[in-house]
Amino acid sequence: MENKRIAVLTSGGDAPGMNACIRSVVRHGIYYGFDMMGVERGYNGLINNGVFPMDNRSVGNIINRGGTILRTARCLEFKTEEGLEKAMETIRANNIRGVVVIGGDGSFRGCRALTEKGVPAIGIPGTIDNDLQYTDYTLGFDTAVNTVLEAITKIRDTMASHERVSIIEVMGHRCGDIALYAGLCGGAEYIIVPEIEWSFEELCNKLEIGRKAGKTSSIVVVAEGAAKGAALAEEIKKRTTMDPRTTVLGYIQRGGNPSARDVLLASRFGAHAMELIRDGIGGRCVGIKNNQIIDMDITEACAMKKTIDKKLFDIAEILSR
Ligand code: ADP
Repeated sequence: MENKRIAVLTSGGDAPGMNACIRSVVRHGIYYGFDMMGVERGYNGLINNGVFPMDNRSVGNIINRGGTILRTARCLEFKTEEGLEKAMETIRANNIRGVVVIGGDGSFRGCRALTEKGVPAIGIPGTIDNDLQYTDYTLGFDTAVNTVLEAITKIRDTMASHERVSIIEVMGHRCGDIALYAGLCGGAEYIIVPEIEWSFEELCNKLEIGRKAGKTSSIVVVAEGAAKGAALAEEIKKRTTMDPRTTVLGYIQRGGNPSARDVLLASRFGAHAMELIRDGIGGRCVGIKNNQIIDMDITEACAMKKTIDKKLFDIAEILSR
């Protein structure tokens, strides 16, 4: 009997839009004549035989739900040769012919390992961080930016009433895209990201200039990887007469219903991944460039160094005066 089983899993940090993407992968897979299987808890499910059949109904009512119905987890064992071999046993025992992985760059390395073992795997970028250079956007980023924007807007109301400086710390260890996009859209006075140099002197000067120019409040958005919000507030207090308030947004940025843009992206990514699988192609990751869905060699994609959009940063700076 021809082997027509394809498995889908979510891995690494969860991101809004993962469910819409699972739905798209499963329904496109079935449309192309495959038997679709779900894998629980990332690569753990491949190691522990946590696989089960999925049909069109099993992905009903999830299109607009945050999180991932397949659950996600890190799985250190999968990085070892023994772990990978256990996963291969599950794959062979269940007659799985290909795997679709929704996750970040760590998860993509797992895709590569599977492909090298002869199981074509396709990666779909699902992470709020937008930290992959080969694609303009990752799944969940737009929703996270909108969540931060909503928070900035609410915080601004109270800060303006009290004429205060507000520091908002957002997610992003090595990539400042959430801070940059949400900061620009929220009219932040100062944006701090790991990729671009900044100084306390410049920051305090800018806040002082703004106050003298009649700004009733100022907002500083900082990516967690660049500086800690509380430390920033402390230093501003020392250097100026201002007494900033800090908000650390934390996990709120990971949750919530996906934005329309993320659901659209999820649906398009899922479709493209299953077209590749249908054509017997593995070892590639799906992305979006200039609003066109693309795919790329997964090894090449992982090797690309993420850069920040300096032009956008400059625009945000000019607009914040
Ligand atoms: P993300 O996918 O969000 O970047 P991680 O970096 O934690 O998150 O990776 C998620 C999972 O991908 C890991 O827990 C592991 O199971 C798998 N993984 C990461 N790196 C590798 C690797 N080099 N080889 C095989 N699997 C990997």
